Amino acid sequence: MKDSYGRTIDYMRISITDRCNLRCKYCMPYGVDCVEPRNILTFEEIWAIAICGAGLGIRHVKVTGGEPLVRKDCCQLIQMLKSIPGIEKVTLTTNGVLLERYLEPLLKAGVDGINISLDTRNRNMYEEITGSDCLEAVLRGIRLASESGIPVKVNAVSIDFEEGPGCSWKSVAELAREYPVDVRFIEMMPIGYGRNFKTINHQVLLEEMEKEYPGLCRDDRPHGFGPAVYYQIPGFQGSIGLISAIHGKFCENCNRVRLTSQGYLKTCLCFEDGVNLREVLREGQAESETGSGHWKWRYQSCPGETMLQERLAEAMSQAILRKPAAHCFETPGRITEMRNMVDIGG
Ligand code: SAM
Ligand code: SF4
Repeated sequence: MKDSYGRTIDYMRISITDRCNLRCKYCMPYGVDCVEPRNILTFEEIWAIAICGAGLGIRHVKVTGGEPLVRKDCCQLIQMLKSIPGIEKVTLTTNGVLLERYLEPLLKAGVDGINISLDTRNRNMYEEITGSDCLEAVLRGIRLASESGIPVKVNAVSIDFEEGPGCSWKSVAELAREYPVDVRFIEMMPIGYGRNFKTINHQVLLEEMEKEYPGLCRDDRPHGFGPAVYYQIPGFQGSIGLISAIHGKFCENCNRVRLTSQGYLKTCLCFEDGVNLREVLREGQAESETGSGHWKWRYQSCPGETMLQERLAEAMSQAILRKPAAHCFETPGRITEMRNMVDIGG
């Protein structure tokens, strides 16, 4: 559907968990609590929302988290989302730590692409950022995924450490020479713990890249649904993308909404505005304990049932119509989003 500014909304990021096996300093540092499992959407509920989204014109779904691969049966959910008429692509964003283990089941489930987050190839710095010594596992995951033939993107947040060597962007960029993967740099956004960090300005990064790689030129081929501006470098198999939310605002082309793991549909990263779809879903439903400390919602009807779908469609479309024109990262005092990125899903 179109929002009130005429933008087509066809992309939904779905966070399936607020749990993670890493503790990235800017996202989920040590000490952040997780929510009670009963407050996290069940797969059936996510499926119901995705069916409704497809009816409203959502064509691409990104499964995110927390770390999506720590949620049991993540691959099964991907298969469920793939079966929804109208959904053309289901992709995943992961920190890559468990990718070696889950690559085969993900491919079997029909995942259309995998984004792997990696901010540095320096082992000490990786541990400093994430709290874990898992760099080698992530690199193996990148290699295996790229060999599988599925589209792979590596995402690195551009953190300006000021006193240190920064996110050592060049060695991350070199992954696009070594493997057929696109590498994208993402300006650090002042959301959650990201507020405690400075972003590298991508205009400056682009100048550094031009000096380092004199043959660098703009790559206007389509690379997916996102706001990245791509560049090609001679001898590289993949392209380099810059996602510059702070120094290259792209809100006029924004095509997305975000579903948090607790079922809140967000229409802009910067503002808390949206709608609580969990409330819409669970209104009038019975809750029962499964015996293992988990709770189950006993729906009297199936996720595609007309009345439930009508209620969801009304709530979702009204929220999309209220989607703000643009973010306000340049005036941090106006940011109303207080959730952490681990809740939102990036
Ligand atoms: N755990 C998965 C991962 O790391 O890819 C998925 C969830 S994570 C929240 C999704 C993406 O958001 C990651 O690429 C992460 O680096 C990015 N991210 C987290 N906080 C951010 C911030 N403040 N600004 C920009 N990107 C951020
Ligand atoms: Fe976990 Fe991803 Fe957040 Fe890092 S960025 S803490 S891997 S959810």
